[in-house]
Amino acid sequence: MTEPTAVPETDPAQEESAVTADAPVEAPTATDPSPSFTPARVGVIGAGYVGLVTGVCMAALGHTVTLRDIDARKVAALNDGGVPIYEPGLDDLMAEHRERLTYTLSLERLLERSDIVFIAVDTPPSYSGDADLSRVMGFIEELATLGGDSRHILVMKSTVPVGTGKRVRQLLEARGLHNVGYVSNPEFLKEGDAIADFMNPDRVVIGASDPDQADRVAGLYEPLQAKILRTSVPTAEMVKYASNAFLATKISFINEIANVCEEVDADVAVVAEGMGMDSRIGKAFLKAGIGFGGSCFPKDVTALKQLAGNSGYHFQLLTSVIEVNELQKRRVIGKLKKHLGDLRGTRIALLGLAFKPGTDDMREAASLVLAGRLIAEGAQVVGWDPVVKSLDGVSGVHIAATAEEALEGADAAVVVTEWQEVTDLEWTHLTASMARPVVIDGRNALDPELMAVAGYTYEGIGRLPGLGIAAQEQR
Ligand code: NAD
Repeated sequence: MTEPTAVPETDPAQEESAVTADAPVEAPTATDPSPSFTPARVGVIGAGYVGLVTGVCMAALGHTVTLRDIDARKVAALNDGGVPIYEPGLDDLMAEHRERLTYTLSLERLLERSDIVFIAVDTPPSYSGDADLSRVMGFIEELATLGGDSRHILVMKSTVPVGTGKRVRQLLEARGLHNVGYVSNPEFLKEGDAIADFMNPDRVVIGASDPDQADRVAGLYEPLQAKILRTSVPTAEMVKYASNAFLATKISFINEIANVCEEVDADVAVVAEGMGMDSRIGKAFLKAGIGFGGSCFPKDVTALKQLAGNSGYHFQLLTSVIEVNELQKRRVIGKLKKHLGDLRGTRIALLGLAFKPGTDDMREAASLVLAGRLIAEGAQVVGWDPVVKSLDGVSGVHIAATAEEALEGADAAVVVTEWQEVTDLEWTHLTASMARPVVIDGRNALDPELMAVAGYTYEGIGRLPGLGIAAQEQR
């Protein structure tokens, strides 16, 4: 396996924080290491959205990092200086710290070169709704064939159900790997802001039964001077699930408020603003829209509900959170029918395909559900996204080269992902190119008043049509 090849340095002066398709993110703000800081030999299993960011950020903190993936194309791309995922700023950081980063297919090589090994493999939902732990357990079985030793501490970054640490420990014991350590260290980063989140975490959660192992993992983060919460392994596992489930609950809650707002002439954007001014509530995750997607919230909420059920407890609230989220995406169809009537033969433009701005991740993206539903209704669907260039899994969708092309001749446009490239479109000049200037803003990203003035039939989620916040407040 070759070492990474040189990649040109970037000009740090050009860095800015806006998350757009082309703009790099703000440089990470790791503090200078204290004199007691000792760089470690870190391994990362899985070079996906979490593993790659973890590895690159660990290298930026001064550690020597070996990343291993089983996807040969991914490893080859990394060794060629490429970045297999879209995450703003990652390419620059990888290039800057390339001397401390090694990418390999070989687990043996990773084990030789590392002492602390992060597990960042995918834990997708299974048919039962439980998290599928086959990649995690498969890795432990593979480790057993090579014989990890007392040097190695495994650190679980993947999101895993409560009790996984215990299962991993039992498997390690059963395979004779008594001396291999185990620490739970869940990850809270958001795609699109992953580097800033990793470098400036609200907290680092470390769950361990052995205080020395906890110390060694905490030591990796020392340059960040982050708040560290030390706890047991099961509690750390639950902190991650409970956090994601709570954020998802906030989203479904505000979406239901939005749906009621539509019935009673109230505006959810102003309602959320008023709620968020209450320090007990906070304004984060109170943006109404067509629901959450992505690789984490849907699967983690379902897995927690399932975990509770498997333990004999019916988690009623989460059942509703999931149902509200499913129905929310489909409300767009109702809104389109309200303005267009039967959708058969209509041309609908979906603006933004990724599950959120700043990423190319399509897992559980609302665009997939909407495109599938619209095609079933007999509509022609044309999609556009600044980063995603195909809609795998839904056939019959035309991907336009530009947003303007997607809007050309469309009977309606749906804002699915609030990319800045979508909100910054010259909306006032685009009405004429549409067959019918109808815009359903699934993310409440556009100004209703400006859209109305520009001649659009505009409808957001839970907003008063045709009036901006300032105008509504004066009513
Ligand atoms: P991902 O699918 O992007 O990456 C997983 C990688 O692991 C893939 O590249 C896969 O090839 C590799 N892999 C699988 N088995 C392997 C093995 N035995 N050895 C080496 N590589 C292996 O997944 P992700 O989005 O990075 O998520 C990873 C975990 O982190 C999941 O549990 C997820 O829930 C959690 N998480 C994700 C996010 C996020 O925003 N994506 C945030 C926090 C936590």
